[in-house]
Amino acid sequence: MRPSTLRALNRAAELTRQNRLTEAMLIAEPVILVADDIEGAEIRRWLLDHVADLAGENHETEGAPLMPANPRFRRVVRIGPVQVATYYDGRGREKHAAACTAPRCGFSTDYDSRAAAELAARTHRCSGR
Ligand SMILES: [Zn+2]
Repeated sequence: MRPSTLRALNRAAELTRQNRLTEAMLIAEPVILVADDIEGAEIRRWLLDHVADLAGENHETEGAPLMPANPRFRRVVRIGPVQVATYYDGRGREKHAAACTAPRCGFSTDYDSRAAAELAARTHRCSGR
């Protein structure tokens, strides 16, 4: 597994533990999508090893899919270290997320407008590097 992949997965697990599933998926999904077969297998193994982390400690979700809040991201772009994506929240409202992929940065916010999310990504001053 490439170091950058592992970093992204660790970051996603960290966000998941903080119950920020949207941001976690936003960071994990592009990594999983670009992985080749070999790396894909490694990612699956890593995910299995970290199921406890990814499932969180929220017992209400027991028996539910691993990622109950798994949204479908559209228009995923990367601006510097920040990923921006559009998705529908649990109530069918369009939301726009910006999440920094740098370790220890912790920047991630949801916006009601795509322009606001992209502006936040562009003006983000990263504290994670
Ligand atoms: Zn950052």
